[in-house]
Amino acid sequence: MRLETLAIHADDGQDPHSGAVVPPINLSTTFLRAEDGSYPSGNVYTRAGNPNRNGLERTLAALEGGAAAAAFASGQAASYAIFQTLQPGDHVIAPAVAYHGTISSLRDVLSRWQLEFSLVDMANPDAVREAIRPNTRMIFSETPANPMLTICDLEAISEIGHAAGALVVVDNTWATPIAQNPFQFGVDLVMHSTTKYIGGHSDVLGGAVVAREENELFERIRLIQTIGGGVPSPFDCWLLQRGIRTLPYRMRAHSENAIKVAQFLYDHPMIEGVLYPGLPDHPGHEIAARQMRYFGGMLSCQVVGGPENARRVASGTKLFAQATSLGGTESLIEHRASVEGPHTTTPHNLLRVSVGLEHPDDLIEDLATILATL
Ligand SMILES: *Cc1c(COP(=O)(O)O)cnc(C)c1O
Repeated sequence: MRLETLAIHADDGQDPHSGAVVPPINLSTTFLRAEDGSYPSGNVYTRAGNPNRNGLERTLAALEGGAAAAAFASGQAASYAIFQTLQPGDHVIAPAVAYHGTISSLRDVLSRWQLEFSLVDMANPDAVREAIRPNTRMIFSETPANPMLTICDLEAISEIGHAAGALVVVDNTWATPIAQNPFQFGVDLVMHSTTKYIGGHSDVLGGAVVAREENELFERIRLIQTIGGGVPSPFDCWLLQRGIRTLPYRMRAHSENAIKVAQFLYDHPMIEGVLYPGLPDHPGHEIAARQMRYFGGMLSCQVVGGPENARRVASGTKLFAQATSLGGTESLIEHRASVEGPHTTTPHNLLRVSVGLEHPDDLIEDLATILATL
């Protein structure tokens, strides 16, 4: 099956008892045992597994071309499960420019558990190679990465990681399994914030880890999920499954709209830089074209005249809501440095844009109107 079909049929959740075509939400926290003490449904207790979560996990694994998936209550909970497979004294290489929560986790939380880390320019494979230490056990990458749309070469990173005996992990949130399947490039684990495009409607928080192989490492992730308990509710899983059914079509439209908005901003005199991997002069364009099916719906731009003008644009649009997050049907715009806090390295005139599913001409008119007032 192709991605569009998998999104709908990898696990359709049809219910033989009621005849329901759409899966029911199973709120029961506990499941019946048979006379001999076994669990004929395969379900025991909802933290350990539940029909809605099982269906979501099967779908995510199928879309990524992986062997298994574990769903979490947030993207951050999924990242923590990955880091918690490591031991004190292990070393992680992570991107210097990435989702700020990933960097903050390593710096502010996990360093107290003696996890060592280096932040490097992941777009430069030599920098990754040079950061390898004898105790390097994981390379955690993100591509396209927050908020500079940095692209890293997944094949090159995988080779470097595996040569050093390290696991290679990718945060695939921005691309989604529709635009990029990192397992094709040798990556071991894929992480998602399902809060974003996978849910797709800005109304559910979630995360997932997908594994290329159902091995000891994945068993460890499963243990952390079910014993650690950072699991999504059945309703959250149901909403995510509903979102996934339209994900392939949404990603295509997000990408088409983003290219048009990026081109408009690129040509605008009040914009001094557009970061979008679909633009031919983006430093990661060639690699992105090789490893992605679509360039995605996220872009950043830098406004002429500094942070004041940037904030005026972010607060002055009518269709783009001034809010953080991404991946919903509605377009969002935000002044990223002020969201990331005091440690930010993001330029202060940078706006991060999640291009939604409105008509692209309406989005462009909205931006043109506010930019004309600067
Ligand atoms: C939002 C996001 C996260 C964190 O996910 P939550 O669901 O908010 O915990 C991680 N990585 C990326 C790239 C994100 O955009």
